[in-house]
Amino acid sequence: MSTHKLATNALHAGHDTKQNGGTRAVPIYQTSSYVFNDTDHAANLFALGELGFIYTRLNNPTNQILQDRLAAVEGGVGAVVFASGTAAISTGLLTLLKAGDHIVASSSLYGGTFNLLNVTLPRLGITTTFVDADNPENFKEAVQENTRAFFVESLGNPKLDVLDLKAISKQAKAAKVPFIVDNTVATPSLLNPIEHGANLVIHSLTKYIGGQGTSLGGAIVDAGTFDWTNGKFPEFTEPSAGYHGLVYSEALGAAAFTFKLILEGLRDYGGALSPFNAFQIIQGLETLPVRIKQHSANALELATWLEARDEVAWVNYPGLKSNKYYDLAQEYLPSGQSGLVTFGIKGGFEAAKQFTDATEIFSLLANIGDTKSLIIHPASTTHQQLTVDQQLSAGVGQDLIRLSVGLEDLEDLKKDIENAFAKVDKAILA
Ligand SMILES: *Cc1c(COP(=O)(O)O)cnc(C)c1O
Repeated sequence: MSTHKLATNALHAGHDTKQNGGTRAVPIYQTSSYVFNDTDHAANLFALGELGFIYTRLNNPTNQILQDRLAAVEGGVGAVVFASGTAAISTGLLTLLKAGDHIVASSSLYGGTFNLLNVTLPRLGITTTFVDADNPENFKEAVQENTRAFFVESLGNPKLDVLDLKAISKQAKAAKVPFIVDNTVATPSLLNPIEHGANLVIHSLTKYIGGQGTSLGGAIVDAGTFDWTNGKFPEFTEPSAGYHGLVYSEALGAAAFTFKLILEGLRDYGGALSPFNAFQIIQGLETLPVRIKQHSANALELATWLEARDEVAWVNYPGLKSNKYYDLAQEYLPSGQSGLVTFGIKGGFEAAKQFTDATEIFSLLANIGDTKSLIIHPASTTHQQLTVDQQLSAGVGQDLIRLSVGLEDLEDLKKDIENAFAKVDKAILA
């Protein structure tokens, strides 16, 4: 494993310039398949006698560099990339779990993930108990005999709750189940879940890691720390019918889950990342450490400025001293709290809609983590499918506006917000 620090790994890990024709930039290997030397070579690759490229649904040299780089920045034994963050989550859970299994998850999750756990996976017999993650004891109380995973977001989107990962990881350890942490909003530059006991780390690479809003992608980083032989995961300790009798834990040791994700997850569910997108995401990852610092600084200043405005009912940013999660943020995110800020506008749902329609630099769209500033009113968009109760446990009130603060000049951003406030009906902005 690399001994370099994160900013160095973000630029270099996984890319051997002596291979790949001396290219300083990571090349795009835009190929679906790879020529075998002969039939014995091909047979040996399929049998894992040697590792090599077979077909881009399973792996690709550009994707491999991104995988090695993500493993290096998160501190894992391996990583697997997917077509989107959602493909990473669904493939990860479907590779890990089977009908009859149970998940304990934080109730404040990305809307798409909540729906997967709440509606779609139950159709396949995989159920979830959602808990208030502010109290780590709640995880212990929700554990059942068939529980096989804990799932949380290190910094919840859009609630921006900072979780006590160390305390929750202890509960996962006691329950002998893997602790899965979606680290999309915090990014590896600000928070390292594996240091705090996470066994698997998930990313939507679409967001801060890609960073420019050009390409969807997702990843799972495997810490290599989970004991798959603890009796709860026979799919790892018994011969796999899905891969000619391979016993994952014996053959692959700490990287057992990484290989299961490739050999069964990507092979059978097919959510592979395009090498072109991998290339784009690599460009983003290279500058992540500098960008996320500036996103965080801009978000903190804007949140502080919003707190003093008359039109604003409340501001939520874990870096604010007034924030419920300030102490946890100082512990887990001491060098910055990322670029998302939420606030409530006086006048509720209607005022929030009018304000959101009136910004010009902040683009109204459903994404986060772009260099450009973004805005959305979740109650009328990303979270409209949820009941009001579900919206509230996800931290989405009717008046909530989510900003993804970009890298523009802060004076321009403030002016944009001021102009938008001025366009909201005075009668409702009471
Ligand atoms: C966006 C997001 C996802 C889903 O990722 P996609 O790349 O959009 O599929 C998952 N988790 C979090 C926290 C996200 O913000």
